[in-house]
Formats: sequence, structure tokens, C-alpha cells
Amino acid sequence: MSNGSPFPPPRRLRGTIVLAVLAAVLVAAGAGYLVLRSLRGGGAPPGAAHPAASASAGDGHRPDRKDGKGDGSPGNGSGAHSGKGNPHGSLKGKTVLIDPGHNTRNHDHVREIARLVNIGNDRKECDTTGTSTDAGYAEASFTLDVARRARTILRHQGAKVVFTQDGDRPYGPCVDERAAAGNRAHADAAISIHADGSAVGNRGFHVILPARVTAGAADTSAIVAPSRQLGERVAGRFVAVTGSAPSNYIGGGTGLDVRSDLGGLNLSTVPKVFIECGNMRDPKDAAHLTDAAWRQKAARGISEGITDFLTS
Ligand SMILES: [Zn+2]
Repeated sequence: MSNGSPFPPPRRLRGTIVLAVLAAVLVAAGAGYLVLRSLRGGGAPPGAAHPAASASAGDGHRPDRKDGKGDGSPGNGSGAHSGKGNPHGSLKGKTVLIDPGHNTRNHDHVREIARLVNIGNDRKECDTTGTSTDAGYAEASFTLDVARRARTILRHQGAKVVFTQDGDRPYGPCVDERAAAGNRAHADAAISIHADGSAVGNRGFHVILPARVTAGAADTSAIVAPSRQLGERVAGRFVAVTGSAPSNYIGGGTGLDVRSDLGGLNLSTVPKVFIECGNMRDPKDAAHLTDAAWRQKAARGISEGITDFLTS
């Protein structure tokens, strides 16, 4: 649960992520056959790159990536790289910030976490206790477990992984500190891991992207676009690896939401998203969230999305 106020209307993509990726793969397969006959040295054909990104165009502008390769530039290789067969790019030299949402001991520190902190455009609680399943499995336990599993995978890929908390603090940290941790680490990508607490029947995951916020200490102008690219890749991989459907109650089927009320996003200066992995209050989703094998898949989906973002 991401401690929210009312959700802003979701941005709609032109199609679902799944359909977009499928279409891009089909196009890439057909185009690749023709192009590879005439090109020497391989590389993906034009149009094969960034299938998820090219399907969104939600904000109408998509700056070139930091490596100087714009979407669709030949030789990028990300079209092939996005295939299921090659999730293992090297992350040597990359830093990933993982923020396990909440803290298992927050409920013992109600006063401390109720302190208001400045998130740029508002003041919010330092932190919240999070939600739990009906049987009492805490969101904070879930987030820490998935985060640790993702850390193992990303370290195996060569990444430096920084945590905001590792079950080693009496409470928190506060949301502003969670953002600052990624900034201090100069993280190449940052993700905050959560599970939602919504009504029974509301199912599936969604990824929350930062809105453009310029207020007080918040200025997300530079991270809105790369965060969307990160979020699209995480959502795409999460679908593929876990088999979970995008949320049926937020994001209009895209699995993506945009919010301006989260300090962890507002105060970030590095590309960052939140993921709500499922709804702890729905019995069917809860069955997944409490299953260690499913959590491993969730961690793999998240890690592969980050890897895609950092290597494409
Ligand atoms: Zn949460």
C-alpha cells in the first residue's frame, strides 16, 4: 500500500503491454528476417527496439535515452534483448536502489511514523504500517522478502544494490529519507516494493510512475520520462514471469498508474517507480503473495525489468 490519497486518472496506453510486446515481436520477427539478409554484423532491425516504450507515447514526447540511442535506432539490440531467451545482461557498474515498503516494526512506533515530512507539494506521514492479508501476513514482511530475493538476482548480474532498510531499523525510514537514499547512491534505477490493501475482487499488480511535480524540494522533470521507461519494462516482465494480470481496478488494464502524492517519487532525482505486486486483501491475490515460490517469480520479474531498463 502506498499511503495514498485519491488516485489521479490513469494515463491510458494505446494497447495493453502484452499486446504491444506481442505485436512488436511479430514485427521484429518479420522485419528481422528481411533485414538480417542484407545487414552484416547483426543488431536488431529498425523498429524492433523498445517495444513497450514505443507502444505507450502517453505523454507525446520521449527524449533519447542517456546512451544517445533513441527509440528504434538500429543496432540497439534491445528488441532481441527483450526476448525471453536473454534476460541476463551484465549490470556491472550499475547501482540499483531497492526500497522495501514500510517496516515490520512500524506498528510499535506509531508516534514516530506519524510525524509529517515535506514531500514538495504536501506534507505526509513519515511512514505507514502498510496492510496485511486477512490471515495476518504483513505487507512489510512481503516487501522485505521480495526485495531480498531481487537483490540476490541483481547482484548475480553484477549490480551494486542499495536498500533503504533491511529489517535493521526500529521503524521507517521516512518517505523523504527513502527518496534521499536513492539520490545519495546516484542509483541508475530505483524501485519501491509494495502490495496493496484494496477491496476483495480487486486483483493484479500495478506500477506507479512519478507525475511531473515541481514544488518546494520536489522536481521530477528529469525523471518522468526515464521512470516511465523503467516502469513499462518492470510491468512487462512482471506479467511475463509471474503470469499475473495487470490491475483490474487501477490503470485501465495497462498495469501503470501516475501519481503526484508519493514522497518517495516526488523527491527522487533518479529514475524510480513503485510496484504494488498484488492486493493483500483479495484471497486469490493473497494466495500468491503468501507463496514463497510466487514471491521468487515476483522478484525475478522486477529484476528482469530493471535489467532491461539498464541494458537497453
Ligand atoms: Zn505499501
